[in-house]
Amino acid sequence: MRILLVEDDKLLGDGIRTGLMQGGFAVDWAKDGREAELALAGEPYEAVVLDLGLPRLSGMDVLRRARGAKNPVPILILTARDTVGDRVAGLDAGADDYLVKPFDLAELRARLRALVRRARNQVEPVLSHGTLKLDPAGRSVTMEGTAVELSAREFAILHELLLNAGRVLSKAQLEQKLYGWGEEIESNAVEVFVHHLRRKLAPELIRTVRGVGYMIPKASA
Ligand code: CA
Repeated sequence: MRILLVEDDKLLGDGIRTGLMQGGFAVDWAKDGREAELALAGEPYEAVVLDLGLPRLSGMDVLRRARGAKNPVPILILTARDTVGDRVAGLDAGADDYLVKPFDLAELRARLRALVRRARNQVEPVLSHGTLKLDPAGRSVTMEGTAVELSAREFAILHELLLNAGRVLSKAQLEQKLYGWGEEIESNAVEVFVHHLRRKLAPELIRTVRGVGYMIPKASA
């Protein structure tokens, strides 16, 4: 899940980025409003964490322009304390949620998971496929009730394939969802992770669609 973080404060931004990566999110970090606007125009993000006080273009302007361009991405705004007016204006301008600084990173991660579920009309927080269950909050996977140990990237690939069950995801799409700015993509990484997932879970779970990509079929029940 790729998130756009928009925050000009270096220390805070670095902390949020690290906290989100620990939660399994790939993070692109834009440090001003214009950079955010460009990023939003160029990449499909799962959600945006948007500070309101930004150089070059304010967070409110980024928000208004994104909605003006019919971009439906879930947006969570970060506001200072005692700024009820900012929160009201932000929500009314199309933000989906807000957090008041200082906030807890665990709460930010949980709110992002909730926003993503809502955007996908996904009621159940735990994803399942037959006897396979993936819990995005607990970052755990079980098969027939038994815990399966996955690396962070293996988990992320399985998560994306389950979220998109029945749809083929290309290698490039998977890479786009897994790697944020500045993270080096090892060649063949996706193939290797899929190979590991098949070995750890079930050989037939992930299908290769030759020349196109990978998919997990929709669960029949
Ligand atoms: Ca700021």
